[in-house]
Amino acid sequence: MVSEQKTVDVSFDSLLRIFTVPEGPDSTLTQIEEKLSQNLNQFLREHIVAEEKPLRHIEQDFSDSIIPEQPEFVSDHTQHLLDTLVSQSVHTSAPSFIGHMTSALPYFLMPLSKIMIALNQNLVKIETSKAFTPLERQVLGMLHRLIYSENDEFYSRWMHSANHSLGAFCSGGTIANITALWVARNNALKPDGDFNGVEKEGLFKAMKHYGYEGLAILVSERGHYSLKKAADVLGIGQEGLVPVKTDTNNRICPVALQEKIQELKAQKIKPFAVIGVAGTTETGNIDPLEAMAKVCELEACHFHVDAAWGGATLMSNNYRHLLAGIELADSVTIDAHKQLYIPMGAGMVLFKNPDAMASIEHHAQYILRKGSKDLGSHTLEGSRSGMAMLVYASMHIISRPGYELLIDQSIEKAKFFASLIEKQSDFELVSQPELCLLTYRYIPKSVRAALAKATPEKAQLLNELLNELTKFIQKRQRETGKSFVSRTRLNPEKWHKLNTLVFRVVLANPLTTNDILTKVLDEQRDIAKQAPNLMASIKHLSDEILAS
Ligand SMILES: *Cc1c(COP(=O)(O)O)cnc(C)c1O
Repeated sequence: MVSEQKTVDVSFDSLLRIFTVPEGPDSTLTQIEEKLSQNLNQFLREHIVAEEKPLRHIEQDFSDSIIPEQPEFVSDHTQHLLDTLVSQSVHTSAPSFIGHMTSALPYFLMPLSKIMIALNQNLVKIETSKAFTPLERQVLGMLHRLIYSENDEFYSRWMHSANHSLGAFCSGGTIANITALWVARNNALKPDGDFNGVEKEGLFKAMKHYGYEGLAILVSERGHYSLKKAADVLGIGQEGLVPVKTDTNNRICPVALQEKIQELKAQKIKPFAVIGVAGTTETGNIDPLEAMAKVCELEACHFHVDAAWGGATLMSNNYRHLLAGIELADSVTIDAHKQLYIPMGAGMVLFKNPDAMASIEHHAQYILRKGSKDLGSHTLEGSRSGMAMLVYASMHIISRPGYELLIDQSIEKAKFFASLIEKQSDFELVSQPELCLLTYRYIPKSVRAALAKATPEKAQLLNELLNELTKFIQKRQRETGKSFVSRTRLNPEKWHKLNTLVFRVVLANPLTTNDILTKVLDEQRDIAKQAPNLMASIKHLSDEILAS
């Protein structure tokens, strides 16, 4: 604590000052702003995952539940934030931070985001956003066209139509997925005869009216956990989210999907939506979307594609074929805050049919009047920021070919890293990159041979030791603070579906070099040596298996 800290009096005049635009190049606030930019830049250069300080120590800095009685100077408080918060946050834009979908941001977004904060527009209605509303509708139109490639006439007809909506801008993929399934549910249980629709009468009466024993949403075993939340809040129940078997490449088996649907129907359970994953969160694989679309057409199911992470691949004419069939989806989720390099809080759901969202339309008297162009009548969220502006700006400043370069270099870097891993005698590539995501683990050659030869019991034992080692390496590497990979659990066919901990790498930062990737492996190999007891147990068991 700084003892000489100056104090401020609580006065209405000083409160008025904080709402006034700071004047002059040498006003205090301007100076603070400059200092802050410098400090942040320095932080962004020097730290990766800030020096490891146990969370319980950090918690001590954030343990006071009393709202301060004494105001602080902005300058003092800024220093406080730098010391306690910034210094202990995670440097997600470091080139050696390759573990998550949250990545580096282009610098032009920092000054531009001030426009958004300063104007503080509320996109829920025109009265509080004016030009931001058509801008957001245009952004939705752009993404819609990226997926569905309709013609000019289509977009001039629907993009700004008051009674239609090409999609919804929201805080992220979770809300986007919930919105898509909300629309699908309401369309499946729509008004019929004297039944007023699920949105008016609720699920219980809808089930009785339609004669269903339950509802189901089908997705591969690799579906994102946000879908469970969706099934829960929509009243389907988490057990109504039915997992379907995947093949060795983590893609849904269309035959198994078809069988599951028949099974459910035989129990009078209505499978109303099927979800294709275009870029699974754990392995980056893409479901066979065309085959899934056929099943959905046959079964009259809503076909949703969760392309929260992988959807940006459509920007690349060289790789968009990987998502072939996405244009057949009734709805698609894309997160601009993943591979479109936008700050957090930029999810989108797009609907093929401009009428689709009518089933969730809401109106209120003082806002969202019928026939108005208020975006709030088709969104789950109420008040929303002008985040679409940053997507709009990036589309113009980076442009489609610019994004293509970014996407291509990420995928090519992942291929490089995969081949580098395959050349090592002591690493094993667990999942090949289809996009820019791959998984692998540390496993010396002789241990691999032992694992292949072992009886099921011994294999399980050896694999558990390897899992411990993977966990140790991943944690120690993070704590050392030079680089960061994440870890996840897979069940590789090759190892008879044993529970396998793996390193997970997402290559999105254009500043990540091949040299950095080589060093990541070197560091992991070195860290393995820092667990001599574990390594000895692994070697001992391997030798025993190989000798038997
Ligand atoms: C990230 C992700 C989500 C969830 O998105 P949020 O923006 O975190 O809410 C959903 N599905 C997939 C496939 C994702 O990768």
